[in-house]
Amino acid sequence: MNKIIIAIDGFSSTGKSTIAKQVAKELGYIYVDTGAMYRAVTYIAIQNDLCCATSFFDEKTKSFRCYETVDEEALLKVLKNSQLSFQYNEKLGFSEMFLDNQSIEKEIRGIEVANKVSMVAQLPQIRKYLVDLQRNMGKQKGIIMDGRDIGTIVFPNSELKIFMTASEQVRAQRRYDELIAKGEKITFDEVLKNVQQRDFLDTTRSQSPLRKAHDAIELDNTHTTIEQMVQQIVALARQKLQQTI
Ligand code: C5P
Repeated sequence: MNKIIIAIDGFSSTGKSTIAKQVAKELGYIYVDTGAMYRAVTYIAIQNDLCCATSFFDEKTKSFRCYETVDEEALLKVLKNSQLSFQYNEKLGFSEMFLDNQSIEKEIRGIEVANKVSMVAQLPQIRKYLVDLQRNMGKQKGIIMDGRDIGTIVFPNSELKIFMTASEQVRAQRRYDELIAKGEKITFDEVLKNVQQRDFLDTTRSQSPLRKAHDAIELDNTHTTIEQMVQQIVALARQKLQQTI
């Protein structure tokens, strides 16, 4: 049976992974959450004390400004000696992110990792390392991958590209509900700020910024249900499969 690659890109908290997981189930495809990979690397950076605050004097505002950096060389070294993998959890019905045979699913979804991940995701050597892994995963096709650069950089020739959007307020509310359900102590404003900050960093960075591929289909899910989105993407995938016979 012929198979295709489905690339899903979009802003944070647009429901990409929830939707992609269900599309994968319907088509019998493998689902890869590349955001989880960047989050795992960020977790490694935090665990190894590789993030540090730096300040500089800004001549324009005549004040000191603080920003965070990561020791990229050291992080890459630790990463190359670590075992990152997705392992399917039958009880949960999805694949969890594992670091050296231990699930780090809970750790990578917290606000500490969320606040640093876009900084780590800007590092060129880290991106190259993860993109190589992602391309390897797609060699056999039959894969649905979500992220920020899947249709533009990882699989520019993928047969079906989706660009997912939703209003900022709706996205922050979804993420807030998710975190509260997991027992995190957080305010809606903190979540909204994190969503805005990640959107800004993800779209303005020099390395593989979040962009809609010219041939991607844009789907706005502000007012639609997850199920409607899933059915729409499954239908598009079946159309593409017909065309590739
Ligand atoms: O998808 P998720 O929100 O879990 O992604 C976390 C972060 O990882 C994003 O905000 C982005 O900075 C980074 N990312 C990326 N490229 C990808 C996937 C995620 O830069 N392909």
